[in-house]
Amino acid sequence: MTADFRHFYQKSWAERTAIVADYSALTPAETARFKTYYLPQHSEIIENYLTDYPLPMGLAVNFVIDDQPRIIPMVTEEPSVIAAASNGAKIVKRAGGFHTTVTRREMIGQIVLEQLTEPAKTAALIEQHAADLLVVADDAHPSLKRRGGGAKQLRVRQLGQGYLSVDLFVDVQAAMGANMLNTMLEAVAKSIGVLTKTNALMSILSNYATASLATATCELPVALLQAGRYSGALVAQKMAAASTVAQLDPYRAATHNKGIMNGIDAVAIATGNDWRALESGAHAYAARDGQYRGLSTWTTDGKTLTGQLTLPLPVGVVGGSIKINDVAQLNHKLLGQPTAPTLARIIAATGLAQNLAALRALVTTGIQQGHMHLQLKSLAMAAGATPAELPTILQQLEQAPHQDLTTTQQLIAALRQ
Ligand code: NDP
Repeated sequence: MTADFRHFYQKSWAERTAIVADYSALTPAETARFKTYYLPQHSEIIENYLTDYPLPMGLAVNFVIDDQPRIIPMVTEEPSVIAAASNGAKIVKRAGGFHTTVTRREMIGQIVLEQLTEPAKTAALIEQHAADLLVVADDAHPSLKRRGGGAKQLRVRQLGQGYLSVDLFVDVQAAMGANMLNTMLEAVAKSIGVLTKTNALMSILSNYATASLATATCELPVALLQAGRYSGALVAQKMAAASTVAQLDPYRAATHNKGIMNGIDAVAIATGNDWRALESGAHAYAARDGQYRGLSTWTTDGKTLTGQLTLPLPVGVVGGSIKINDVAQLNHKLLGQPTAPTLARIIAATGLAQNLAALRALVTTGIQQGHMHLQLKSLAMAAGATPAELPTILQQLEQAPHQDLTTTQQLIAALRQ
């Protein structure tokens, strides 16, 4: 434990891996893993880079979105996600596919002022100078305006206790826009400082991207939902009930939304987008009226089941790591090189497909039947089954009274005897 991590960021990759190997007593085989997924260009993206971390990437199929067939690359480690998305999309395809809309696409940033004795007066002063401040914002990143975007609106909100938020709305064009917006905000904050003789507490974009909303909808004849002994009408009615519960109960809503984000994050990661930004925005939006609720709703009139999902989706097709990541580039091509609003539409539809499949399973056979079938593979591999052993072990596990690690290890040991 004598390894020296001082100036670790200045070390070469070889030096860094040697230090870690020494510190963590790694075997040569373990140290060699760093090399397996090492991509030299990625050491330019993050500090103290060691290696890439492999996550499975697959393709969700059966999607028709706004009358266009789509294949959707997804990155996820959860076994049932891609199967569920494809399954949900297959049902919706039979009813004509998803339909989507997007609002104007602007990112919102905040300049927070503090310790104001007369916040109303300060707010009025800033509002009087809004036009000039928008020019300051555009001058800080002029290429956005040249591309047809740029600063659009200034809004001032009194937060109470002497705090004020100056919200800057910016059309960030094809990018997610966080860095560009932050540059603009810092410039505007300086001008506000001169104008109001105060120093801003902070200047940073808000991930509560209420000016970048995307909506996906689908309308399904209930007959399409029939599952085993459950009639389509009964499934529709139970799915609508499940949707109501997610509106009433935050415990259920969190899980309902996690299922939606299973799809959304997987496409966000595959396309080089910031999924933490989408997560925080989605959950803030889910609590927009003061109670955390399900992001999607399902209603039925007995003949049709109607699903709708709306959430902030401030995604980009340029910027961040998108152009640096070869696989993200490839995935944009698989998606047909969408514009940023089209990517948001695709992602919203993926979230709704995911939610449809999850709710339908939950209110009929239960989630475990389909889910565990796929989870068992992960369990068998975690227990050490080789690809050749997998079919036998899976078959035995399906029948086993306990589907746990110990049982799986015992089955593998028995098979090898
Ligand atoms: P970038 O800083 O990469 O800026 C976008 C880049 O795309 C610019 O260089 C811009 O060129 C270029 N570009 C090319 N064509 C276009 C076009 N048509 N429209 C818009 N831009 C274009 O990324 P973002 O500003 O989008 O910021 C996203 C990154 O910020 C993500 O990695 C995110 O993780 C991170 N981030 C997120 C935060 C958060 O969510 N809270 C906070 C801080 C960072 P030009 O320079 O010529 O305009």
